[in-house]
Amino acid sequence: MSEEKTAAATSKTAPSQSQGVWSSIVGQKKVIAQLQHEVKHPEELAQSWLLTGPPGSGRVNVALAFAAALECPNGGDGTCKSCRSVLARTHPDVTVLSTSGVTITIDQVRALVESSEQMPSLGPWRIMIIEDVDRMTERTTNVLLKEVEEPAPHTMWILCAPGAQDVLPTIRSRCRLVTLAVPSTDEVTDFLLAQYGPDSHFAKTRLAAHRAHANRQTKSKKSGKQTAHGDDGLPLTPEIARQDARIAQGHIGLAVLYALNRQMVRDRGVTVRGVLGLRRSSDGVVLAGKIVDSARAQAKNEVQQRSEQKSQQFLVENGLKSTRDIPPALRGAYNDAVGKAADQRREATRVERDIYDRVLNDIASVYRDICVLQADAAGSAGIVNVENRTAVQNLAIRLSPRQAIDRLQAVEKARRRIQGNGSAQLDLEALLCALVPPFDPLHN
Ligand SMILES: [Zn+2]
Repeated sequence: MSEEKTAAATSKTAPSQSQGVWSSIVGQKKVIAQLQHEVKHPEELAQSWLLTGPPGSGRVNVALAFAAALECPNGGDGTCKSCRSVLARTHPDVTVLSTSGVTITIDQVRALVESSEQMPSLGPWRIMIIEDVDRMTERTTNVLLKEVEEPAPHTMWILCAPGAQDVLPTIRSRCRLVTLAVPSTDEVTDFLLAQYGPDSHFAKTRLAAHRAHANRQTKSKKSGKQTAHGDDGLPLTPEIARQDARIAQGHIGLAVLYALNRQMVRDRGVTVRGVLGLRRSSDGVVLAGKIVDSARAQAKNEVQQRSEQKSQQFLVENGLKSTRDIPPALRGAYNDAVGKAADQRREATRVERDIYDRVLNDIASVYRDICVLQADAAGSAGIVNVENRTAVQNLAIRLSPRQAIDRLQAVEKARRRIQGNGSAQLDLEALLCALVPPFDPLHN
């Protein structure tokens, strides 16, 4: 009741830019202005959209904010029940298809197409959001094609992908394209401080719970290394926020992961120093082994934790104390909720791939810095790996500009091979061996 009053009180003022449902979107002023214009002129509204931006650019958050603004009676105030339920992904008319597996299955898309044809129940639109439309085979895409070309009168499709080139031209040409900008380091820093700085809601109310959770994680890994309270960099200082924003290179999601998990920042440091320290092929083989072992362990741990959370949630929802109390009649439902072993393996594969993708970004950042230094552009473009500036400078002198660019291309080749189901171990070994700089008697 009181919530509705608040909503009514705030709805008098129309939401302006970066307010209401748009308030958590970082560094996308132009895109927000464009989408707000669309919301205000529904008579010209396109019904199929393709939102592109690199992983971590927050494209799904933009899709959700757009959906919330379209469903909201006040154009996206961010406070009414409709806005809040869309953003929480619980609105009955807004469906988000995300995949924990490596690809989106044809059955998932068929189910989505089927429900897209139903009339919306609460708001003016039935909105279907697909998080990674690039994770679809051509056959699956064909199921979607007709719907995207001619959606039902009250249906809107919002497809998300890293880049327009990752989507089949047949889909691309039927959608209105929205390209997200890469937010600047300043914008990401400000966002991190607002979310996790000393004055943030997080620092005041959720930090203790976050630490307790992080300690449980550390314990369950039995690594023996405990993060002492206050040693996790939280609440963020401006220096740490800036460092996280810099190494995340405009990826909001990644910046948040760094802010909440110092171990990830340390792992990144190991990769970067390892790449800078490559002297011979055997160094490459050793580093590849380390990266793969760590990625597998992390993926296994993450999937295990997710399934423990799901199990816990199931027990709470059914008023049970432990898994031993589950009556035979609920066993099947329990297994469905927690996921089969095969599903968990698929999920782990996807998590592992995402980690390799991050590692490849870290490796590429070294050669990106080298190109910047060689072009004498550090003043304007900035250096990502400030912590290793001397080593980066030394390598920039040893490599020719051509050799630096070749190395960036080698990273992209490895990325394609790993995404295309290659053996991560072999592909990383080949890459890291190819990155070893030419022999130099002064440095070897
Ligand atoms: Zn609203």
